[in-house]
Amino acid sequence: MSTRADPLPTDLLALVPDVLQAELARHFETRRQKAFRARQVMRWIFETDARTFDEMTDLPAGERAALAAAYRLGELDVDTVSVSQDGTAKHLWKTHDGELIESVLIPTHDRLTLCLSSQAGCAMGCTFCATGWSGFRRHLTAGEIVAQYRGSRRWAAEQGYGPITNIVYMGMGEPLANRAAVHPSLTILNQGYGVGARRITVSTVGVVPGILELAERPEQFKLALSLHSPVEALRQELIPLEKRWPLPQLIEALSAFRDAGGRRMTFEYTMIGGVNDAPELAPKLADLAYSLHAFVNLIPFNPIPWQSWRPSSPERIEHFRTVLSDRGVDVAVREPRGRDIDAACGQLRANALVQIEGSGS
Ligand code: SF4
Repeated sequence: MSTRADPLPTDLLALVPDVLQAELARHFETRRQKAFRARQVMRWIFETDARTFDEMTDLPAGERAALAAAYRLGELDVDTVSVSQDGTAKHLWKTHDGELIESVLIPTHDRLTLCLSSQAGCAMGCTFCATGWSGFRRHLTAGEIVAQYRGSRRWAAEQGYGPITNIVYMGMGEPLANRAAVHPSLTILNQGYGVGARRITVSTVGVVPGILELAERPEQFKLALSLHSPVEALRQELIPLEKRWPLPQLIEALSAFRDAGGRRMTFEYTMIGGVNDAPELAPKLADLAYSLHAFVNLIPFNPIPWQSWRPSSPERIEHFRTVLSDRGVDVAVREPRGRDIDAACGQLRANALVQIEGSGS
């Protein structure tokens, strides 16, 4: 009988394609099966989103049973799905150990963007973010990240949303604090499921080693930086991580990312009335964005119930937009999506999705 201490069988959804192929080849070899069996299973995983081994109907029943005994397909259970008046759809998923995580589908006229979570909760404690206030539960596995994509893809097809065209790692958690799972999940989504690297954006509040690692990858994944202030002292108040990797160090890492070539970078700037919207900050933000070739999303703050902060006034937001634009920076003001279903993944960044995923593809 299984006990809590028993390790779970290997989750095939968590393996990058090369490793998956080698693992399946080894498995079928020991069972004296032909090599094409591995390719059959990979097709069922990557192309058909099979939820169980039993669905792999071109494999003999004995082989399906053997796979089920040796491995698992780490699907997530759907807890709830909420659909906004604007079509934005939030999935609340339940993991095998009862953690609840969110992903959000955002339809626009020419694309369907999926916002993924990388952690259950978040340890970063950003002051403007509901997830940050709720604390860290655990890292997600690569399989759990990929499973959000698979489940969302199935749901979108059933509901007539069409194919997912873009992915942003912008849900719960700091992706670059969970690089052990995020890196393989990027590879799996790109190589296994065929989502182009330039259609995948990783969002961070400024984990410098993670930005450098992303710059070193050959694929041109995009980067979104939650900036929220162009000056160190104020940024520290908003993002505690700023103390660990202060702006000068962060700018060096962003420069490396820019210099890696062919990659798009976006700054997210949540506009909080009387906090980070002073007129003198606008040219500083513009200069920083210009030097790093970054697109800027200005995002009106989405109030958190237990906090007194309010969004900047439309006039102040327009002032920032004008200053940035006049200084040659590509800038957009992002209207919130799915507000009626609280679809910002517990934070504000989802508001910027449409521009981020659309800016370079
Ligand atoms: S903004 Fe992102 S990194 Fe900061 S607390 Fe929220 S989820 Fe974590």
